[in-house]
Amino acid sequence: MQINKRELREMLFCLIEGIKLWERDYTKVPDKLYKGHLLFMKHIAMVDSNIPNNLFALIKTLKKPSFEWGIPQLVDIFSPESALIEPFNGITTEAEEFIESYQSLDETDQSVMRKILVFCRELDLDNEYRFIRTFLSNKTNAVIDAFSLGKSLAENLESQELRQLVFECYEVLPEPVSNYRKCPHCGWTLQYRNGNWFCNKENVCHTIESFEQISMFSFNETDKIYRLTSGIQRYILLPGLQEIRFSNLLDKKGYQVTTYPDIDLYDLRINLAERIIDIDMKDYKSTSILADYFNQLSVSQLEKYHSDSYIVIPSYRIKHSPAYIKIVNSRLEESVKRHIRILSENQVTELLKEEVK
Ligand SMILES: [Zn+2]
Repeated sequence: MQINKRELREMLFCLIEGIKLWERDYTKVPDKLYKGHLLFMKHIAMVDSNIPNNLFALIKTLKKPSFEWGIPQLVDIFSPESALIEPFNGITTEAEEFIESYQSLDETDQSVMRKILVFCRELDLDNEYRFIRTFLSNKTNAVIDAFSLGKSLAENLESQELRQLVFECYEVLPEPVSNYRKCPHCGWTLQYRNGNWFCNKENVCHTIESFEQISMFSFNETDKIYRLTSGIQRYILLPGLQEIRFSNLLDKKGYQVTTYPDIDLYDLRINLAERIIDIDMKDYKSTSILADYFNQLSVSQLEKYHSDSYIVIPSYRIKHSPAYIKIVNSRLEESVKRHIRILSENQVTELLKEEVK
């Protein structure tokens, strides 16, 4: 059963990554997509005779909710109600979340954030790491002119190598700044498509903040403007906004909070008179993918969650889906449940009320 799940995860990974590559160049079918397709046919063949044996049939199937694909075990690792591909929009939010959770378990990940983390851990640069994560999680830095970016980094980071790595989290604005609007939620670039303004690929920001009043950026056309890369916007800035917001909320209540303590061992640490509480915030749309993320953790990774540590789900997710935590818990394997305690933000503040600051 376990091997089967592993192979299904690999199948999804190959399909999603393969489609992303294929979107860039439709003239050749990427090896990953081919491999994903073969695995897909293998798993369907076990239960069904209706096999999508060519690429067009495969794509057609992947546009349907995954419970309709004909692979019942998928329900353990992917949202049954979600497709992999959305018309006009490429891969879905859930597909992106799956890739992110799959890759975050990969110790050999070569992404720029991983490089920053490794660099800071090797040289024990706790303050520098905290500065970088906080800087990238601040909406006013999501789109920034070259001069201000260079100045902030020069003032706060001694290491030239580290400054260079932070620069790699940015890209020059692909179009003139007047083509964009400022996202009211995250500060990144909104683009106009099919009669609506969109922030990045999926529209997380729109579900959190109203887009009724949006403003232009106030840069000069002659400024060299940078924005966070799409990946950093999605995987550092958006969750970072939730982490920093919750940290500020606790801070206002008078608690002593440290963000990204011990170079990112946790997202937040609350120092109380008699004990320390550690928090990791998890901002996933899909409860299935979040549960599967925990189910994949090794024993040593799970051991990081001591008895005073909690997984916290941002309030807006609970507001949107009140049974969120219950659903995730119901999907956790018994061995994982012993380590993982999931709370809402409100439950954390309730729990803190009984404590001495
Ligand atoms: Zn946004």
